[in-house]
Amino acid sequence: MTERPSVEQMLQNIREIRGRIQMAAPGAQVRLMAVTKTVEPALINAAVESGGITLLGENRVQEFLDKEQQYRRESCQVHFIGHLQTNKVKYIADKVDMIESVDSLKLAQTIQRECERIGRVMPVLVEVNIGREPSKSGVFPEDLQELLEKISRLDRVKVRGLMFIPPICSNNEQKEEIFARIQKLFIDMSAKKIDNVDMDFLSAGMSSDYLTAVKYGANIVRIGTAIFGKRN
Ligand SMILES: *Cc1c(COP(=O)(O)O)cnc(C)c1O
Repeated sequence: MTERPSVEQMLQNIREIRGRIQMAAPGAQVRLMAVTKTVEPALINAAVESGGITLLGENRVQEFLDKEQQYRRESCQVHFIGHLQTNKVKYIADKVDMIESVDSLKLAQTIQRECERIGRVMPVLVEVNIGREPSKSGVFPEDLQELLEKISRLDRVKVRGLMFIPPICSNNEQKEEIFARIQKLFIDMSAKKIDNVDMDFLSAGMSSDYLTAVKYGANIVRIGTAIFGKRN
């Protein structure tokens, strides 16, 4: 059983999250992404229509395809944030506004080919495995620059920034240390000024760490549980 909040409670959650972000990073322009895995379309649409949510995050291809036609898409964008197999790119390439989880040249090349075929450019973020955790996807920090340079040569794939799923931290100090490293890497990569690579977006921070994330410069936070309640 999931513990779904009522629409009223969910809208309250969204207001509280926005308020806390403003307190943690006054004046910062932070996009609040509602992460919608396992959430039913009616509640998602209420977040868009009454909660002012303009960005949804999907991390499973099949679930996204099952749900997306029920979404109110006029007023919100969808970013793909989950691990993406190359053979699934064709199913989502015409349906998402950004892919945040590009972590290999092979995946970028597949997006390139598909976008050539359908005639669009795909904005992407490159996912970094900051904790070098074997169980997680994402390029290791030391390989990031080389990957960015290779992707920069693909004219249908436009890098707009970086995405992180940080390791679970046992204490606040550790959390701060990780996010400081994330911010430094983001700033370092911006300073390289790689052709055709922009560093506009730093997507980091989930329900348990978004306030630390915005303190360290994240401008997309991806929130599931704190908006829609606990998943199974
Ligand atoms: C599920 C998910 C989130 C949201 O996690 P919560 O802890 O529920 O806020 C963020 N990013 C990715 C990539 C996810 O898969």
